[in-house]
Amino acid sequence: MSSLKLNIQSKRLWIDANDQQQVWYYYDVQTQADKEVFEAAVKSWADTTCIKFNRGQPGGCTENRGHGAVCVGSFGGCWSLVGNSYSNGWSRSSQKMSVQPNGCELAAAAHEFGHALGLQHEQSRPDRQEYIWVNYENLDIKIDGQLDNNVKQAWYQASMCEKGQTVDIPMPYDFLSIMQYGASDFAKEDGRMVYVTRDPRSQYMLDYHRNAGMLQTHYDKLVMNVAYKCDVLWRKTCGDNGNSGTKCLNGGYFAKSCKCECPEGYSGSDCGSKTGSPLFPVLDRAKVMVDITSPGLYDMADRGMNMNTENLILQQFVFFQFITVVARANHIRKRAAITVNQPFEQIQQTFGSSFGQVNFLNNLEIADCQVTGFFYWGDAAHNKMRTECVSSVYNNELPSERLHLRGRNQTLSITVICALGKMSKDPSVSLKAAEFKLDATFHINPKMQLRTFQNPSDDPGPLADPDSASGSNAGKIAGIVIGVLLGVALIVGLGVAWKMGKLPIGK
Ligand SMILES: [Zn+2]
Repeated sequence: MSSLKLNIQSKRLWIDANDQQQVWYYYDVQTQADKEVFEAAVKSWADTTCIKFNRGQPGGCTENRGHGAVCVGSFGGCWSLVGNSYSNGWSRSSQKMSVQPNGCELAAAAHEFGHALGLQHEQSRPDRQEYIWVNYENLDIKIDGQLDNNVKQAWYQASMCEKGQTVDIPMPYDFLSIMQYGASDFAKEDGRMVYVTRDPRSQYMLDYHRNAGMLQTHYDKLVMNVAYKCDVLWRKTCGDNGNSGTKCLNGGYFAKSCKCECPEGYSGSDCGSKTGSPLFPVLDRAKVMVDITSPGLYDMADRGMNMNTENLILQQFVFFQFITVVARANHIRKRAAITVNQPFEQIQQTFGSSFGQVNFLNNLEIADCQVTGFFYWGDAAHNKMRTECVSSVYNNELPSERLHLRGRNQTLSITVICALGKMSKDPSVSLKAAEFKLDATFHINPKMQLRTFQNPSDDPGPLADPDSASGSNAGKIAGIVIGVLLGVALIVGLGVAWKMGKLPIGK
């Protein structure tokens, strides 16, 4: 945990002159918001904070009600302003928030309402560069008549807060935050990555939380409750003096229950006991987290993926499976190479019938990445990542056309998000599709060993693995002999130099 900042607009909170935490909202009379979704989003924040939410009579959004108020309507999609725009005299009318029917699911509405309460995006944190790369060039910026507004909007989605805009509190980067974007949100159509986690093991979380319909994480609640001083209020109502009473350690906070609420990995009355689990555990359905350090065939099947549909907010999530693979060469000069062998025949068998041909196999060519899933691969630590459609991998039936991935550095990582079931409405297809076999090999970095040949057919292929036994014994013996000879020469040389009194020995 480092000394970080809360990504919340500290000057636009809904705390009135009497120190009351309360938000006013009402429905726009001109348009029809999805009230059911919006009320559920309000409840998600009401349940987890001390903020009071007051619903006023419906009216127009340009009204001045004498205090700040969120005017909820349907203005195209799902969006909100950040913080209370009335509080610092920025505006003297109510502020709009859009919750379009069928255009805004609960997680998105709770995200937008988080903005209205003052939250910025997780990827806007002033210290985000320690955790993620942001590739502005992959944003979908349309150069058209509305150039200025579009460019500004797209740029803003990825922008970073200045330190003065935020509140000071130690908090880890929360890859699962309700305020964190998915890897290719607002990206160009081919799904290239805007947000790359420096640790490839965290990458899947960016898309996991939305797809799973996850709402506020522990740290989302912590930010809100500390910024709105709910923890202070609850201590008072619980009769707990913060100085002599319960202190909450390790990112815990004093909650409505009059106890410390602890983050994942900590427990006990003060969150002081470490339970040994990581900060962000590998989540259900993302259990496939494979480390490859030696060559071989790695089968992704039977590694604990499942289709458990219990307690899922979004039923749609049953169509997704997540795989993370990190291949690391054991030598600085070596690079990993991986060939992806897809269980194409198995998928074919799963369908077999004409139904499968019509609805699945024939559609692969036109199916877009959004429907079938992504294959993010490359060197995350150096922001060298590529996107491949899962459907295009399945199109490559010939072994020669199979996806070959080569690392540019010592580490090659792959994050696969399979959503093929979305096409067929059968989650077992995603499970089958995720059962790749990965053929891993390691080679010496070709750049380090320049060779020339006249005809392509003379190319002997990748250089031999220096550690592999086959065919390199002679080389190894030769190496040892040379080593011994060098050693002898060095000793002789040293003897000569020492005798001549030229070595600064003992200084
Ligand atoms: Zn947002």
